[in-house]
Amino acid sequence: MMIPYGRQDIHQEDIDAVVEILRSDFLTQGPTVPAFEAAVVERLGASHGVATSSATSALHLACLALGAGPGDVVWTTPTTFVASANCARYCGADVDFVDIDPQTWNMSVAALREKLEQAERDGRLPKIVIPVHLCGQPCEMKSIGELAQQYGFKVIEDASHAIGARYQDEPVGNCRYSDIAVFSFHPVKIITTGEGGLATARDAEVADRMRLLRSHGVTRDPEQMVGESLGPWYYEQVALGFNYRMTDLHAALGLSQLRRLDEIVVRRHELARVYDEALGDLPLRLPHNHPDAYSALHLYPVRLCLDRIDRTHRDIFEALRRRGVGVNLHYIPVHTQPYYRDLGFSVGQFPEAERYHAEAISLPMFPTLTQEQQGEVVRVLHEELEA
Ligand SMILES: *Cc1c(COP(=O)(O)O)cnc(C)c1O
Repeated sequence: MMIPYGRQDIHQEDIDAVVEILRSDFLTQGPTVPAFEAAVVERLGASHGVATSSATSALHLACLALGAGPGDVVWTTPTTFVASANCARYCGADVDFVDIDPQTWNMSVAALREKLEQAERDGRLPKIVIPVHLCGQPCEMKSIGELAQQYGFKVIEDASHAIGARYQDEPVGNCRYSDIAVFSFHPVKIITTGEGGLATARDAEVADRMRLLRSHGVTRDPEQMVGESLGPWYYEQVALGFNYRMTDLHAALGLSQLRRLDEIVVRRHELARVYDEALGDLPLRLPHNHPDAYSALHLYPVRLCLDRIDRTHRDIFEALRRRGVGVNLHYIPVHTQPYYRDLGFSVGQFPEAERYHAEAISLPMFPTLTQEQQGEVVRVLHEELEA
């Protein structure tokens, strides 16, 4: 049996919560989605919350609500899941990337500053920048927020890995230094709704715009209508929206999971501490904890010090899989994907992200990982890496 790299943690109370919805009047568009939104907003100290069918759909709505369209440029990090970049392409905007920091593996603030200076000279400043809190470790949001002020771009935090994380002792998602923060509730993430996402927003108008576009661009609110209501049946489609709604079944699971958020993140920190101690002597670079950040520890990647190992990255990765350790690699740099190469990107453009990809291996990290399983991961790593 392969030990996976991530896995959901479903308790009886989660199952009961979903079953209760199955027996209720509303499977979707009932009271549970707004209740989930309110609970997340309260938990994160946010102002507005919009639950969606996925983080991908939330990222798309976020880009639309902030006005991204043809002729605009959106920047993100190459070391992320493709959805962080694709959301801009859905809107017809162009994408560009900012290389990662060799220490934190998040978007480099130094590289961002340098690229902004150049973009200003070229008259091609980004409309939106999407920092990604890789592995659950918050980006340097204060600096990014200051640059946003200075250069006039919007900020969407891709916080898909980071519910439960803290930055400068405040919850990630309160939008102190951003316009919108997006969370994912896919089963490998910190808490799950099956499929699902949620965007928190600083401004009410931005949240309203996301809500409108989440459901076909159709409104029943006279305030949002162009014409007069013709009767109680009346609704208007005022924009081209989508069906990106979350169902009440998903929201019930999310509400139930949210109650265990702290416990789950604490457990992830316990597991990280064991890895930190047990792997410190091996030719590996372990995750760095930025002093401003309390990570949600979605992932625990290690980087092979290949100058001290006479085997290849692939060889070690395959050996771990063969021996039942379900390692993974987060991520292949987005600009090297065929779709992005067809848009003009090429290998070599973002060397820190490419170096990361050539060395990184994500170890199993999830709350139900047992002491025995983690011990096995550590033992196999020692056997493979000790010369
Ligand atoms: C998982 C993930 C997404 C997409 O989340 P879905 O809920 O599966 O759509 C987006 N960005 C990052 C960084 C992710 O890890």
